[in-house]
Amino acid sequence: MRRGCEAEHLAHAYVVAGVLRGEARELAEKALSLVFCSSARRPCGTCRGCASVRDRTHPDVLWVEPQKRSRRISIEQVRSLQSRMSQTSFAGGWKACVIVGADRLSDEAANAFLKTLEEPAPRSLFLLLTDGPQFLLPTIASRCHPILLRTDEDTLEDAWRGRLLGILAEEERGLAVQAFARADRVQRLLKDIKEAAEAEIRESSAEEAEDEDADTRDARASARYREMRSALLRCMLLWYRDVLLLVCGGDERLVRNTASLESLRAKSRALSYRQALRNVETVLAMNRQLESNIAESAVLGHGFCLLAGSKEVV
Ligand SMILES: [Zn+2]
Repeated sequence: MRRGCEAEHLAHAYVVAGVLRGEARELAEKALSLVFCSSARRPCGTCRGCASVRDRTHPDVLWVEPQKRSRRISIEQVRSLQSRMSQTSFAGGWKACVIVGADRLSDEAANAFLKTLEEPAPRSLFLLLTDGPQFLLPTIASRCHPILLRTDEDTLEDAWRGRLLGILAEEERGLAVQAFARADRVQRLLKDIKEAAEAEIRESSAEEAEDEDADTRDARASARYREMRSALLRCMLLWYRDVLLLVCGGDERLVRNTASLESLRAKSRALSYRQALRNVETVLAMNRQLESNIAESAVLGHGFCLLAGSKEVV
């Protein structure tokens, strides 16, 4: 990005995949400082450009975040960013837009945004931050330069991951009753994760924002929980990805859950390629259903039956 910036050859759009409130945001801020810094040695970190990027007051930088309750980015937000980005820049240079959680654009919003990516105004920069790059509309992802910051399984705490992998590693015999028991255990795990998310937000609220009202705090706790739940689904996805890899006869050195290699091997022996692939698709579908607010118990119950290959469920 630095070289591109110096040569005035920056791409119009980047997907930055990483922890939203961590490296992804840091990289976005650094990239913006690079573009808007007025010093000779960019980014200097001290000039007005750098400072206004940091405190988010730069008039040519627009941050778009998912709405609090729905956790989606709406078509109205996209229309407003399109109108802002089509105006001439205040400082006479670049204009930039950061979309935090670009995978949370609603379908309608994503399609509208695609038009902007197809015909970007000159000297406009889009940074699409996401912790779930696999959920971006492929037509959007293909028009952006990808920057992958970190493997995503790191966002789920070890204790939670251990419990989840324990459930996934159990032997299964294709029985619906067994699948429902599993779904139930994952739901109990999610309940504990939810309590942890609420405790985390309560503590941070007591320390940093004493005047925060209950609604805002609830919204933050719910957003945090969804982040953690989505990390859990990614962890599940990686598990089924590993199984698929082994079913295909892939190189065992590419397995991500190395500690579970034995159970992964056992699982892969019992599955056809078709079922292993379907399992990966099932987990992706489960995540999408949870994101669209379908009840957890329904998503998990149905999902685990499909994963168990149970024929008792329609
Ligand atoms: Zn500067």
